[in-house]
Amino acid sequence: MTPPTVVPATETATPAAATATAATAGAPTGTRLDPWFGSYADRAHGMRASEIRALFAVANRPEVVSLAGGMPYLEGLPLDAIAEMSADLVRTRGTTALQYGSGQGDETLREQIIDVMRLEGIEAHPDDVVVTTGSQQALDLVTRIFVNPGDVVVAEAPSYVGALGVFRSYQAEVVHSPIDADGLVPELLEQTLAGLAAAGKRVKLLYVIPNYHNPGGVSISLERRPRIVEIARRYGVLVLEDNPYGLLGFDEEPRPALHSYDPEGVVYLGTFSKTFAPGYRVGWAVAPHAVREKLVLAAESSILCPSNASQLAVSTYLATADWMSQIKQFRELYRERRDAMVGALAEHLPSASWNVPAGGFYTWVKLPDGLDARAMLPRAVTARVAFVPGTAFYYDGSGSDHVRLSFCFPSPERIREGVRRLAGVVASELDL
Ligand code: PMP
Repeated sequence: MTPPTVVPATETATPAAATATAATAGAPTGTRLDPWFGSYADRAHGMRASEIRALFAVANRPEVVSLAGGMPYLEGLPLDAIAEMSADLVRTRGTTALQYGSGQGDETLREQIIDVMRLEGIEAHPDDVVVTTGSQQALDLVTRIFVNPGDVVVAEAPSYVGALGVFRSYQAEVVHSPIDADGLVPELLEQTLAGLAAAGKRVKLLYVIPNYHNPGGVSISLERRPRIVEIARRYGVLVLEDNPYGLLGFDEEPRPALHSYDPEGVVYLGTFSKTFAPGYRVGWAVAPHAVREKLVLAAESSILCPSNASQLAVSTYLATADWMSQIKQFRELYRERRDAMVGALAEHLPSASWNVPAGGFYTWVKLPDGLDARAMLPRAVTARVAFVPGTAFYYDGSGSDHVRLSFCFPSPERIREGVRRLAGVVASELDL
């Protein structure tokens, strides 16, 4: 096992870095040309533009096949019915929908969320649920209430770029622990935690994406789930389980959430972004009672309350639409796109290696030896294909031999064309 790498998030902009192009992905924000540069809090100096965000401007040009973003394909939704539902909501319950609401979230929606989570073996009470502005806000709130500058967060290697950004902004140290085809490896997790304990480090959170990992595409096996929870408990580390994709398995039943093994030791995050629509920005956290109270206070201080209009729209959708069939349709759609992706990789890029994800949005591809994904990206964009370089998903700059390819948004034909273009770029890189 490679020893865990500890990278302080507190790196502030050095003068050299500060005068470099701040708009570059991964560069620190703020430059000496900014008259307020000297006034920022340390945590703001640690903030970085995500590689994905910096890519969006070019990747969204119509001539570019973007295998970069993780946007769900919403044309599968019954948009006319949703439009009518929204209009009806404002007509019949407008003074509630357009009013402030409870900091913890709408009670009816919290009851419905309990039903959704039961599909993954979670038995919780609506009082345990906090509705958030997407699970991204829940990541922020949990980190805010637990992490002091210099505290350690253990995250999978690789891990979700948006979570790494949150941990960085609270000046955490992130230590990666390896995954394989069955997800986070318990033996290596144990070694990581033991090493950190021996070094006197304070580990506050174990951040895991248990299903159809972003970017890894893998899921934690059934056998590993209770073991991971038990190891975290033994080391006194709270598990932060982030599960946007759990209901998007192509051929398998949802697996039990880590939360179902130890509700007191796991904060669970869910979202409607991938199973319904990210535009409503409705997600949630389920947490042990005392933690839940702190989450509500933290949420109130940042946004007062989640949007009532969004919550009531999602709640009405759950109550009136056949949301399970909608999810089944999404699964079929994404399965077809996954097949297009892995088929095209086998045809055009046999010198690379990849996993065949059983659900979700992403394939994690190891490039042929000697290639650097980040260096290759500008040439790929010139060849009209975009991907996210693996370095985005590590705290310490590793991952340059991998790319994340998303198959959620482009049509199967566009996916095949994108992989064909990517293979052309790889071939010319190898010839260099
Ligand atoms: N966690 C993971 C692993 C994700 O992939 C995403 C979205 N890409 C999020 C959290 C945030 O989702 P949202 O805020 O839309 O619920």
